[in-house]
Amino acid sequence: MKNVTVLGTGVLGSQIAYQTAFHGFSVVAYDINDEVLEKAKKRFAELATIYVAELPGATREQADAALANISYSADLAAAVSDADLVIEAVPENLELKRSIYTTLGEVAPAKTIFATNSSTLLPSDLKGFTGRPEKFLALHFANHVWKQNTAEVMGTTDTDPAIFAEVVDFASRIGMVPIEIKKEKAGYLLNSLLVPFLDAAGALVAGGYAEPETIDKTWRIGTGAPLGPFQIYDIVGLTTAYNISSAGGPEQKKFAEYLKENYIDKGKLGTSTGEGFYKYPSA
Ligand code: NAD
Repeated sequence: MKNVTVLGTGVLGSQIAYQTAFHGFSVVAYDINDEVLEKAKKRFAELATIYVAELPGATREQADAALANISYSADLAAAVSDADLVIEAVPENLELKRSIYTTLGEVAPAKTIFATNSSTLLPSDLKGFTGRPEKFLALHFANHVWKQNTAEVMGTTDTDPAIFAEVVDFASRIGMVPIEIKKEKAGYLLNSLLVPFLDAAGALVAGGYAEPETIDKTWRIGTGAPLGPFQIYDIVGLTTAYNISSAGGPEQKKFAEYLKENYIDKGKLGTSTGEGFYKYPSA
């Protein structure tokens, strides 16, 4: 594998493209128009600075070499014309993704492997639109790929095991820790663990059993984990937490109300705004 095309240069697509370029691959960043691609260039420049600051051993030269490994295209056929791997990170919308795979399947060369970064869809929801289900699977990154560097690899029953292995190898080569998932699971491994954990913590505060600080302290001391659930909520962002909780059952809805009243309506949205459950003076 040499040439990688990333579809979508938003939050995750830009990180995936930059991480891949940082590890020496030739990357094409594809998005809907040149205006969006100009914004992507800014994101990549910001990522270069972040990598030098946050990634142990990363030099300015490496960060600049990564920028030079990225080219830009708003023409899908041209963007994938020599791609060994396409990583799709377009918005989380089933119909949009299906339509992209339909076109992609027609314009990409036969050799190209397709991987979706979708967080909530199963690859089975999309495989029928790819024209090549044996060369299609999920490769799921976490936000802040350079430090939260898991890459969950999850195929469908149609995915060729050799392709799965190739993508696992690719993930290692771009500095990720590949997480091999044996069969399809909504939420992959990480969110299958994290979401019920955060829900349980939310139900404890919304039910009036304890303060967030007490729950976090219990979890940290009792398990040796570095962060408690409300510290994690602050990183995820309370708006995202609110949106997910308001769509849940009665306990989750109660927590959503608690979040709105005590935090969101007061502009306390987590680390991004300098305050959520905790204060972050340097943010
Ligand atoms: P985003 O909205 O930040 O970025 C989406 C990008 O796709 C934008 O640049 C947009 O211009 C582009 N786009 C829109 N329509 C397109 C099209 N037709 N063709 C090509 N590009 C198009 O979204 P995001 O947060 O980066 O999420 C992208 C995917 O990654 C989703 O499937 C999401 O589930 C997944 N994901 C997100 C996170 C996260 O923390 N944000 C984490 C893991 C996985």
